Formats: sequence, structure tokens, C-alpha cells
Amino acid sequence: MSQTLFDLVRANLPADPAAKTVIETGEGTRYSYADLVARSGAYAAALVGLGVGPGDRVAVQVEKSAEVVFLYLGAVRAGAVFLPLNTAYTAAEVAYFLADAEPALFVCDPARRESLEPVATAAGVGRVTTLDASGRGAIAEAADAADPDFADVARDPDDLAAILYTSGTTGRSKGAMLTHANLASNAVTLAQTWRFDADDVLIHALPVFHTHGLFVATNVVLASGAGMIFLSKFDAKQILALMPRATTMMGVPTFYTRLLKEPGLTPEATAAIRLFVSGSAPLLAETHRDWQARTGHAILERYGMTETNMNTSNPYEGDRIAGTVGLPLDGVAVRVVDPETGAHLPADAVGMIEVKGANVFKGYWRMPEKTATEFKTDGFFITGDLGKIDARGYVHIVGRGKDLIITGGYNVYPKEVENEIDALPGVVESAVIGLPHADFGEGVTAVVVARPDAPGEAEILRTLEGRLARFKCPKRILFADELPRNAMGKVQKNLLRDTHAGLYRG
Ligand code: AMP
Repeated sequence: MSQTLFDLVRANLPADPAAKTVIETGEGTRYSYADLVARSGAYAAALVGLGVGPGDRVAVQVEKSAEVVFLYLGAVRAGAVFLPLNTAYTAAEVAYFLADAEPALFVCDPARRESLEPVATAAGVGRVTTLDASGRGAIAEAADAADPDFADVARDPDDLAAILYTSGTTGRSKGAMLTHANLASNAVTLAQTWRFDADDVLIHALPVFHTHGLFVATNVVLASGAGMIFLSKFDAKQILALMPRATTMMGVPTFYTRLLKEPGLTPEATAAIRLFVSGSAPLLAETHRDWQARTGHAILERYGMTETNMNTSNPYEGDRIAGTVGLPLDGVAVRVVDPETGAHLPADAVGMIEVKGANVFKGYWRMPEKTATEFKTDGFFITGDLGKIDARGYVHIVGRGKDLIITGGYNVYPKEVENEIDALPGVVESAVIGLPHADFGEGVTAVVVARPDAPGEAEILRTLEGRLARFKCPKRILFADELPRNAMGKVQKNLLRDTHAGLYRG
């Protein structure tokens, strides 16, 4: 794929860009493709006016609005590197990202300017500007005053378009360097795989500081000349009301479990939708089945990560198999290897998932050594996800490498134990973790969210003993009201491990 991200957008502009809505906000404001080209051009000019040059990072920590999309496209048109930050990050966290990325410009919410400006100054950031949740602020005013007719700064497809910091469920966040070719190629592949066209309207309720909302959802829409209803946050009732006007939705599993709690979720309510996509965290097979029973739609689950964009997808036509993440996308090679020896494993054997393709990032920002250890000499990237490929070629994710439990020398894949627990009556969900144990190294432990009618600890343990090899059976079952999740719905097992670290001590 030899084009820049904005070349791709231009190549797919509708015949009459002024007549076609690309973004409609939750409040009903509409922007056409003509607006998108003009406004992103104005942002590009404003950024250049603020001294942003090719390759400079533009760090952005702002609430979701249509203007963020224009700013993102403006940054790449100016030849800069867009660097969105999770809005939940504290000043101390922002300080780390700014010091690491050394952006030329930091865009923050005006309400946080006072507290963040000193942080940015201390990190050596040249300029700070603002953008609020309604899309107004100093940078928006600069764009108002700028010439929207901007000639894009020439960029090579291999140049950086964005840096996204990994969500940091393991250790320190690392900046994933994503090129124009990474983003453009994945957008084209996904749009084709999922049959997007200009008639599509996507319900977009994801945050835009993450690969899912910014790249998967937004770039696929832009690469197909489609439209999106751009919501500042997830609201199940609002989304149900919008479904008759939309054709697709992309969400994290939590979107689906929350929508399932709405009595209004019916075949009629979802009749206009042709495709529901889930990703970023495992979709329970139960959620998949419940959704199909309630709506008649089989949710399409896909798998990817910040570093690689999307790697696999269940088929658009053909079996969408619950509990799997589907088949490798066109142009993406996926293999499973023994994490110790690197030997390629046959079908159904569990090992480390490795991927290679135009979608895979260029490396970690200013971490050449870390980058070198995460790539094999033949160019495959070590994802850190454990899984298997079945005889039909479907990929199954079994867990993160770091979540693997080694107890008394035996490997336990948490997913296998979680599946057994989740199947028990009254159990909502579970997370299985390894905790320090003097005797076993790690003790298998389950944290369970259950309804009052669920069996207690002793009964669960008894039931599991009949179903799982003894070494896989948890030593303890702990109960919790809910599992800790990050913004993308991923269970933060590291927090559970920290909270319960002393369970087997003394
Ligand atoms: P992030 O970089 O925040 O997008 O997180 C990527 C990680 O999320 C992957 O490495 C997987 O561990 C997990 N993930 C993403 N999609 C899925 C999925 N469909 N099923 C299971 N895990 C997933």
C-alpha cells in the first residue's frame, strides 16, 4: 500500500463531498466530506503556523468531538505525528508521555491548562494550546483564522502518522510508531473484509485516543466514503434509539453486555444494522449466543492490538464462531510458536501468537532494544498473546503471555479455567490469576463475579475438581462485585494480582 493516510481519504471522497455527511454528532450537528477536507486543511495550516514541522509530534489530551478528527487529519496532512492520550491520564502520567515523546505542541482541555502547562513546560514542550469537549479552544480559533486550502506536506508511506502509547496493562507504556502505510493498509483491508461502502452509517461510541475508535472505526469509515454518528460516550438507550438510522456498530464487549440489559434490544430494533463488530477484549461466547438469540445477529469478533492494528477477523460471509477471533486478514501472516524454542506449532497447539504484515508497526519510540527483542529475525512480531489456530484456520486467544500461570512447574492457561467457572449457574464472569505461593511458585486463584444464587467457594471447587486436571484447579475462589477494567474493557489482572498478592502468605 503506497499511499499516505490522507491520500486514501481523498481517493475515496464521494462525487459530491458537500452533499455527503461524514460525521453527525450526538447533538445532531452534521459535517460533510467537504467540511472534513476544509477543516482538516485549516488545522494543518494552524499547526504549521504554530511551528509544527514534518515528523514533529502533536500530543493531544482532549475530550472526543468532531474537531478531534479534523485535528488528527490536519496533523497528518501537515506531515506531523498525531499522538492522542487517554483523557483519564493524570498530570503525573501526562508528564511521562510528554517527556518521552517530546512533542512540538501539546493540545489539552482548557479546564486543565493551568495544571498541565507547567507539566508541559517542565517536559520541554514548546507550546500548549487548547480544545474543549464542544470543539472550541485556542487551536480551533487558530483553525478558524487559517486558510483551509492546504497543500499536504509530502510524506512517504513509511513515515510516521501516529504514535499510540500501549495501554499499559503490563508495566510502563511504550509508544508504538505507526506509519501511514500501517494505517492506510489496515483501513483498506478492514473496509473490504467488512464490506463497507458509502451507504454505511457507523455508530461510533468509542474513545478516539485508542486504536479501536481512532483507527479501526474512523479510518474504515473514511476509507469507504461512509458516515458515522459520533457519540461522546456510550449510552445504551441512545444507541438503541439510533440503530434504525445506522447500518453498523463497532464496540468493546462491554457495549454488548450493557445493551443486552436493555429490554428494547429486539430483532426489530436492530433490523437496519447489517454488521456488529466486537474487539479489544475477549467477547464471552455466552454474550455472542445471547446477542444472536435476542437480535438474530451474529457479532463479528476481530483481534488486533495497538502495535499491529487488526490481525484477524471472523468472516463476513461464513461462520462467525463464538469464542474465536476468526481468520488472518488478507496480507497478514499469523503463526503460533513454542514460546521457549520458537518452533512452529501444529493446529490446536497453544503457544505464542506472532504476526507479520503491512499492518505491523515500525517499532517502539526510542526503544530500539525493546523493539529488537519483540521482532523475530524473519520479521514476525511477538504479540504477547497466547493462542492456537484450529484445524479450520480460526485463531483462538487463550490469554496474555504474562497471564500464564506456572504452578508447581505446570502451565495453566487462565481462559480454560475461566470457561469452566463461567459455565456454572449464577456466575457472571471470572478472572483466573496466579498469586505468589511458597510451595507452588504460583497458586491458581479465581476472582468471581456472581449472582446471589451462585454456588459458594467450596461447591465451585468441588465441581471444578471433576472437570479440570488437579493442577489447574484454583486453590481459592474469591468473590468480587466487579472486575477492574481499563477504558477499553480489558480486565486488569495486574491490579487483581496486586490486591491479592498476600493471599497465600503466612
Ligand atoms: P490494545 O493494544 O489496547 O488494543 O490491546 C491489545 C490486546 O487486547 C491484544 O494483545 C489482546 O490481548 C487483546 N484483544 C484484542 N482483541 C481481542 C479479542 N477479540 N479477543 C481477545 N483479546 C483481544
